[in-house]
Amino acid sequence: MQLNYETNTTSLYTDGMEDKIDLKGKLLPELEEIMVKWGEKSYRARQLMLWLYHKRVTDFEEITSFSKAFRKVLNEKAYVSHLKILDKIKSSLDDTTKYLFELDDGNKVESVLMYDRDRVTCCVSTQVGCAQGCAFCATGKSGFVRNLTASEIINQIMTIEAELGGGIRADGAVTPKVVTNVVLMGMGEPFANYEQVEKAVSLMNGAEGLMIAARKITISTSGLVPMIRKFTAKGTQIGLALSLNATDDKLRSRLMPVNRKYPIKDVLLACKEWALAVNRQLTVEYILIKNVNDSLTHAKELCKILHGIPSKVNLIAYNPVEGISFERPEPEKVEIFRQRLADSHFVAPVRISRGIDIAAACGQLRVKNQG
Ligand code: SF4
Repeated sequence: MQLNYETNTTSLYTDGMEDKIDLKGKLLPELEEIMVKWGEKSYRARQLMLWLYHKRVTDFEEITSFSKAFRKVLNEKAYVSHLKILDKIKSSLDDTTKYLFELDDGNKVESVLMYDRDRVTCCVSTQVGCAQGCAFCATGKSGFVRNLTASEIINQIMTIEAELGGGIRADGAVTPKVVTNVVLMGMGEPFANYEQVEKAVSLMNGAEGLMIAARKITISTSGLVPMIRKFTAKGTQIGLALSLNATDDKLRSRLMPVNRKYPIKDVLLACKEWALAVNRQLTVEYILIKNVNDSLTHAKELCKILHGIPSKVNLIAYNPVEGISFERPEPEKVEIFRQRLADSHFVAPVRISRGIDIAAACGQLRVKNQG
């Protein structure tokens, strides 16, 4: 297949970068082809990736093992993209930090960094806005703008790590990576941007990339059945999370319009096929909303519909969103729900709504920033 670099280089930069290629976000075969096109040996591509993703250089002049002539070519024809941190808020309750990034075209996306013992999880966005329109979600309310590129997805992690001091130091030493786990659970439906997400995940996981183990990367979906099947066919160990949030089609269609196209039975079947094919447990995300889906009957139903599916349930008490009337249930009610699941032998940790004081639910900071 002839790779079309030009499409991805339709750089959104306006300050003289229009004709340059972003070398971030390219897979090894793509970079090899570029190197050959520029009259270089293809092995330069691998070397370049190691400089970009392991040593985290942002300036070609730092690549001391390349000849001056080749560095000149790189400077003339390419650039290394990064994101601009527009806003950053740290929770006073835990260390959860929310980042608002500005993209080259002025659009904004969010990422969240969460700490849990020795685990540092980065929750990244995959789209600007989202077309799925979930009733409880700030991003869903603001509509869809565009897909993110693979480089914009991976740059969320790399920009945060650079900000926290990761990368190459003045003395040449490379400081340790910061992020241990990645969840594609921020703004957007990852499977609606399948190609770029697949590429970004390869770069996160690959030996020449960020080297984050496949089992430490999780893609969360609202339930796009054909894409779940496509993902299953890949046979990787990347984790899958399903945002379920209801136990009957009537309620789920009200909360998540995607359910009208892909009802619960079909989604759960596709997820079960994935779990059995790759021998992994599905993560079921269930946001508990006061007096909507948090009753004991809902808990019993949840056990019933998940029966036979290798899965664990993450219970999340709803993070209130300005302008949306849903409320967070009382802790006692959450506990009753959790206990009912535990009685049916479901591992169902109640995920602490991290950074509740910094509006950590998806899309809230962006909405706030845009007024
Ligand atoms: S919850 Fe996820 S899928 Fe639903 S609207 Fe928000 S970002 Fe989109």
